[in-house]
Amino acid sequence: MGYNLGLYFSQFRFHSTPFNVKRALSDSLESKRRTEQGAFIARMPIIRQLPVSLVNKIAAGEVIERPASVVKEMLENSIDAGASMIEVLVEGGGTDLIRISDNGCGIDPEQLELALAPHATSKLKDSEDLFDVRTLGFRGEALASIAEISHLTLRSRIASSDSGYELRTQGPEREAIKPCAMSVGTTIEVRHLFFNTPVRRKFMKTPSTEMGHVVEAFTRVALAFPNVQMILSSNDRVQYELAATSRWADRIRAFFGDEIADALISVEHDDDKVKVRGYVTDPSVSRSNNRMQYLFLNGRYIRDRALQHALSEAYRGLLMVGRMPVCFLQMEIDPKTVDVNVHPTKVEVRFEDSGAIYSRLLHTIRHRFLTSNLVAKARDVGLGIPSSSDPIPHPLTPNRNLPTSENTSAGSNTALMDWARSQQSVPTFRPFPESGFPTDPFRAVLPVQPATPPTAISPTNNIATDPLLDSIDFSPKPLDALELIGSTPAVGFQIHNRYLVTQDEAGMVIIDQHALHERILFEQIKTKVLSKSLARQRMLVPATVQLTSAESAMALESKEMLAEIGFEIESFGGDMIVLNAYPSILSKRAPEEMLRQVLEALMSGGKKVNAQDVLDELMNMMACKAAIKAGDRLSDSEISALLEQRDLYHDTHHCPHGRPTALFFSREQLDKMFKRI
Ligand code: ADP
Ligand code: MG
Repeated sequence: MGYNLGLYFSQFRFHSTPFNVKRALSDSLESKRRTEQGAFIARMPIIRQLPVSLVNKIAAGEVIERPASVVKEMLENSIDAGASMIEVLVEGGGTDLIRISDNGCGIDPEQLELALAPHATSKLKDSEDLFDVRTLGFRGEALASIAEISHLTLRSRIASSDSGYELRTQGPEREAIKPCAMSVGTTIEVRHLFFNTPVRRKFMKTPSTEMGHVVEAFTRVALAFPNVQMILSSNDRVQYELAATSRWADRIRAFFGDEIADALISVEHDDDKVKVRGYVTDPSVSRSNNRMQYLFLNGRYIRDRALQHALSEAYRGLLMVGRMPVCFLQMEIDPKTVDVNVHPTKVEVRFEDSGAIYSRLLHTIRHRFLTSNLVAKARDVGLGIPSSSDPIPHPLTPNRNLPTSENTSAGSNTALMDWARSQQSVPTFRPFPESGFPTDPFRAVLPVQPATPPTAISPTNNIATDPLLDSIDFSPKPLDALELIGSTPAVGFQIHNRYLVTQDEAGMVIIDQHALHERILFEQIKTKVLSKSLARQRMLVPATVQLTSAESAMALESKEMLAEIGFEIESFGGDMIVLNAYPSILSKRAPEEMLRQVLEALMSGGKKVNAQDVLDELMNMMACKAAIKAGDRLSDSEISALLEQRDLYHDTHHCPHGRPTALFFSREQLDKMFKRI
């Protein structure tokens, strides 16, 4: 067997040295000449100037990836030409035909040829202009590239001429220019895209996929320029017919419908560095990817990782993990402070001071959220509760078209029934008294009953003595206060060992206990960090922690910040770190493990973000680790203590991880559900 195998392999080796491999080997030997000393040197290759046509094809490879790239480039040219009306027609997803007509300034007939020449542009004069770009285009590559790889017809008429002129090309071949009848502006027709670049053509997807990309390219320009009338038709069907408008929200609605448009929250910021205008959206309309983050810089759609990170940061605590915000933001900065020439399609840019823009964006949005009421409504989690006459003013969702009791679907009724059933099965359910509702239960009422007697406490319920909870004031209230309200029921109660149920004058609130506690702790940690009074626990025997070299570098670099949140470290040589002290609030956790997690958070913060944001992130993490968990049973006094603190912080509506902290059912919703009204 062994012999056979050996034979097999030796035969295989012998036969499998293919002829062409041998030839390649001898070729490469031949290509080397022996020097006098006997060493081999490579034969010198010949350098040639590439023909223009090949240069164009190479450029086209970068700029024109698919039909949508043609649409993008030509739309941008029309905008640069000052058009107030642009019409786009595509057939076969752009693979058969793309025609774009505008009423812009047009091109002088004498310059038609030049417009299609590589590196020919009317938008730059000298290299200084390159650092102060105020047009969408400037590289003079697009038309030359498109013409090189398609059958193109360029028709254009300027205002001072009574006729238009037409230039037809097929790849590098050009026909003579001839007059044609048309109104002022430019029409460019592109057929048979990639006809002479078969590999590119092969990579094209189905017409409907390509059409999807065309629509996206159209959307980006149409969003950036709402004051331009725009039409998009595909195979003779009008897909979008957009009137010029000065209200951005109208255009957003035209593309994304009522769900998004009704959830828009306007934001604005203006200082000497950057102007931000536009909309973020209510967290209820998040997405699983960031494609609905429309950022425009000086009218140009851009993607920028740092700014996307700023958006996620601004929504921290408002979205579930893995969900991404939806927003539409126009930013304006001095063109001299941004380099738009770092990417062939200019979708990425480089800011001179990206940190400043990052923090402006983050703080503008955060500030907006802090001044808004974002309590999640029951309908947002799919309970199908009618809310068209929601009595609670909800400034962020002024006129959502939500289902009314008449048109609530059968599906959501089922959800409602399930919900009702789950409520009935809660053994400790006690109805609220008919009268005597406190005006503000979070503030006014103190716990009535003394803490649940020890016998009723499950073995896991040692929370009152848990050092993690020390930071919440669970101490008994003054006796006379308790006596005064002795007949008032507890401010709320716990269900499923994870939610707290309470009321306010406007309705009923169900609160996630972990999320609420986490939020409260976060604020407490933050206050203490700011006043430098965060308690730390000194280790009796300092712990040595073995880290990776990246982690230890990050740890030492962030030593001061770590000290602010209670971790005292120093280098022990190599990648070892000595941990001398850690935050007392985390005393239940393994300090080494916590340090690792903090470092991980620091490293994933990655970008050059400002120290405050990193610190916030670390404090969030500590709050999460220290907070009570779902499943922890709470005593009445603990419940009350939590609920009382709920209004101490203005943004307790969502936990820092993104789950909502509270679901709100208005009294009117309840009355409707019980068919009282
Ligand atoms: P760029 O936009 O970078 O200048 P292009 O290859 O896209 O390069 O266009 C070359 C030139 O053709 C532009 O600079 C402009 O002068 C002219 N041009 C292209 N499209 C239009 C249009 N729709 N209307 C008027 N002029 C146009
Ligand atoms: Mg251009």
